[in-house]
Amino acid sequence: MLAHGRWRLPAAGRLARAVDLYEYQGKELFRRHGIPVSEGRLATSPAAARAAAQELGGAVVVKAQVLTGGRGKAGGIKLAESPAEAEARAREILGLDIRGHTVQKLWIERASDIEREYYLSLTFDRSTKKPLFMFTTQGGVDIEEVAATSPDALVRLHVDPLEGFHPWQGRRLVYEAGVESPGEQKQIAAIAGRLYAAFLGYEAMLCEVNPLIVTPEGEVRALDSKFTVDDNALFRLPEIAEMRDLAAADPLEALAREKGVTYVKLDGEVGVLGNGAGLTMSTVDVVTFVGGRPANFCDLGGGGDAQGVVDALEVITRDPQVSAIFFNIFGGITRCDEVARGILQALEQMGIEDPIVVRLDGTNAEEGRRLLQEAAKANVHAEATMLEGARRAVELAGAAG
Ligand code: GDP
Ligand code: MN
Repeated sequence: MLAHGRWRLPAAGRLARAVDLYEYQGKELFRRHGIPVSEGRLATSPAAARAAAQELGGAVVVKAQVLTGGRGKAGGIKLAESPAEAEARAREILGLDIRGHTVQKLWIERASDIEREYYLSLTFDRSTKKPLFMFTTQGGVDIEEVAATSPDALVRLHVDPLEGFHPWQGRRLVYEAGVESPGEQKQIAAIAGRLYAAFLGYEAMLCEVNPLIVTPEGEVRALDSKFTVDDNALFRLPEIAEMRDLAAADPLEALAREKGVTYVKLDGEVGVLGNGAGLTMSTVDVVTFVGGRPANFCDLGGGGDAQGVVDALEVITRDPQVSAIFFNIFGGITRCDEVARGILQALEQMGIEDPIVVRLDGTNAEEGRRLLQEAAKANVHAEATMLEGARRAVELAGAAG
C-alpha cells in the first residue's frame, strides 16, 4: 500500500481529511469509468456468501472488506471452488481482526486466473502539484519494497493538470516498464487514461491498483482497488459521500461530520477548541507541553457563531474521556462575544459540568469576557493567555479525572 499522510493542511487553513473507500466501492468507480474488474457481490453473512457464489457460478474469491491493506497476508482473502466452500471461507473471515479492523463485509468475486501481476497508481504529487502515475510490472507485492529494492523497475510519470492526459503518456508507461505484448500495452495504456479520468472526476488523492493482473488469455483487469478521496470535495460528490462508511469511522467523528464540526478524536482528557487550524494545532501542542493529554482537535473555523460553538461542545462532551475543556479563541472574523454566547447557550442546553477554561483575545474579547463574568458560571474559568489557559485546563482535568 502506498504510504500517504492521513492529514494535510491546505493553504486555506482548513483541515482536509483523506477518506478511504472499500475495495468494492473503488471497483464500482473503476467499472463506471470503463476499467475492467471482476463481477462480484457484497455479503455480510456466510449464507449470503454462499448465495453470491451460487449466482456467480464457478470458483470465487472471498475478500475481507476493511479499510487497510495487506489483507491477503492476514488471511482475509481466500479462494473457494464451490458455494459450500465460499460459505466456509466466509465463516472464517467474518469477524477476523485485520490490523485493528474487524471484518464485517465480504466481497465475493469471480476468481481470476493470474498470469502476471502489475502495479498501477495515480497520486497527487504535492511537491510538483501534479498528478503522478507509477507503474511497474513487479506488482502484487508491497510497492515500497519495489521502490527500495529495484527503483528502476518503477516508472514515474507526471501529468500536467492543464494539459490533461495524453495517450502517449499511457504508451510511455508501458514501454518504460518493459511490457512486451502489444495487447497488454494497448489495454494498460487505455486503463491509465481511464484511471486519470476517474481520479479527476472524483477528486481523488490516490487511486491504486495492486495488482493489475494479466490473465492467461491476455486480458488486463484491476484485481484490487485503493481509492482515497478528499473529504473537502464530498459536498460536490454526493455519490461518493454516500459510499463513505460512517460506521467504520470513529462514531464521534461521524457525529462531528453530520454537524459540520471539524473534529479529530485524540486520546487524552483535555477537550481542545480553537478557531483556525493553526491556532487549534498550537493549542493541542501547548496542552501537551504543559503535561496534559489533548482529548481532541476541534476547529471552530473562521465563523464561530454561537450555534457552531454549541455543536462543537456537543461533540467534545460526548467523549467520556473528557474531564476539562479548553477554549482558545483569537478573535478576528470570529467574534469573542459570539463565542461567549455559544458557551453560555451550550451550558443552558446541555448542562455541561466539566470545567471549561476560556481564553479570549482579539475582536470583542472584552465584551466576551464580560458576558462570561456576568453569567457567573461556577465551572467557567477565564485565563488571559494560551499558556495559562492550558495549565489551568490540565490542572482541572487532573482534579476531575
Ligand atoms: P491485499 O492483500 O489487501 O492487497 O488484497 P488483494 O486484493 O491485492 O489480493 C491479494 C492477493 O490475493 C493478490 O495479489 C492475488 O495474488 C490474490 N488474489 C486475489 N484475487 C485473486 C483471484 O481472483 N485469483 C487468484 N488466483 N488470486 C487472487
Ligand atoms: Mn492489493
